[in-house]
Amino acid sequence: MEHKPIPHVLIFPFPAQGHINSMLKLAELLCLSGLHVTFLNTEFIHLRLHRFADVETRFGIFPGFRFETISDGLPADHSRSFNSISDLIHSVKTFIEPTFRKLLIPDRLKSEDRPPVTCIIADGVLSFTIDVAEAIEVPCILWRTPSACYFWSTFFISEMIAAGELPFNDDEMDKAITSVPGMENFLRSRDLPSFCRAKELNDPGLQLILTETINSTRATAHILNTFEDLEGPILSQLRAYIPKLYTLGPLHALLNSRRKIASQPPTSSNSLLEIDRSCMTWLDQQPSKSVVYFSFGSVVFMSHAQMIEFWYGLVNSGKRFLWVLRPDSIPVKTSDFQVPEELKLATKERGYIVDWSPQEEVLVHPAVGGFFTHSGWNSTLESMVAGLPMVCWPQFADQPINSRYVSEVWKIGFDMKDTCDRSIVAKLIRDMMDDKREELVVSVNRIAEQASKCVSEGGTSNRNLDLLIEDIKAMS
Ligand code: UDP
Repeated sequence: MEHKPIPHVLIFPFPAQGHINSMLKLAELLCLSGLHVTFLNTEFIHLRLHRFADVETRFGIFPGFRFETISDGLPADHSRSFNSISDLIHSVKTFIEPTFRKLLIPDRLKSEDRPPVTCIIADGVLSFTIDVAEAIEVPCILWRTPSACYFWSTFFISEMIAAGELPFNDDEMDKAITSVPGMENFLRSRDLPSFCRAKELNDPGLQLILTETINSTRATAHILNTFEDLEGPILSQLRAYIPKLYTLGPLHALLNSRRKIASQPPTSSNSLLEIDRSCMTWLDQQPSKSVVYFSFGSVVFMSHAQMIEFWYGLVNSGKRFLWVLRPDSIPVKTSDFQVPEELKLATKERGYIVDWSPQEEVLVHPAVGGFFTHSGWNSTLESMVAGLPMVCWPQFADQPINSRYVSEVWKIGFDMKDTCDRSIVAKLIRDMMDDKREELVVSVNRIAEQASKCVSEGGTSNRNLDLLIEDIKAMS
């Protein structure tokens, strides 16, 4: 009988925390199923992962796994922060794309000790990988870091333009958007993905998403980090455009469930920043469900004035809080800026501030009762799995539509987008932690249960992973 070679999957993420985090988890899931996996990082990301995430030890147990690196073409001292995202996007086009081609064509990364690549799983925003996959005659599956509701909305940019819904002025933020099927009853201009706020239709961000969405339909298949019980109605519509679509979410929960079967600990950090674990000791000393966890992920930033509004809001809510305040989250520093003494004092009494936390662990800590979040998709899923209600302050990409779904569709939190006022912050925190907690908790616990079922044996995400692996094997 002829033995088929073990498939060799090349995983290629966009070089940013949320993307790396979820795609490394996908890599681990494929390794647990015995596939060969090469994970392609930019050198910058690779150095950080090795410094802060101990990936060498974690992935060292998989003989079929290896990292490969390429340069992103940016100077060594470049911050690669969200402020300079246009530099990163430019480097993808001018530097990363040709390097990726050269790496794969013609010999598909074949070496003495491993077979050539038989399947590419690339980030959904790197659709040029489809052309390379076609050139080397392997399938290309696109991984979508954001929500399905976001992805679905990007298919209707042209319809929104034709209907005069895009572009919109600042005084039209509350206007209903009717061109996205299934969202007519609750979507407003302000809830659209952030690039829709562009004032000109030839805006590079808007054009990029438009072309990437169209290009991406040429992929062999798509993987979404969501689950059928959560986004079922959108997913069934999406399947008309993307027939081959695997839902594997919440991916971190699916990985934990598979690790358990493989008798491996549920530990993992795919952090690009140094984690401060002292907050876990602080949390251990707080009463059950008493703490608001406040974190805006890896790229959202704010001004000093906004930081002070949040800080007063947290303090005036009377609640305990754990705040992740990344050193780069206030890019423009005011030279004479001083934190008021009363805030420092109140923080000493019932708050704790770190640069970066072990978020997945924090969210499931018994002391944490709610999440003040930027509505990044990973954070949203992690909050759902932990059964935590949310207050949302979204800024970029899919965050504005995620937060609308959190408040209006799933009813598991409050959306305070486009406002930043201490009294609103304090009120919504009190609503989340006390006054309106009960209804939120009922909904989020139901979703947590559905998520748990989806990733358990027989659940949709669990079965889809098996299906994906079978299909990768069949295509290899
Ligand atoms: N995260 C973390 N520690 C922190 C803040 C965030 O480990 O202090 C992780 C979080 O668990 C999530 C990721 O960083 O997996 C952020 O991804 P998300 O999609 O929520 O937001 P992004 O950073 O992409 O805006």
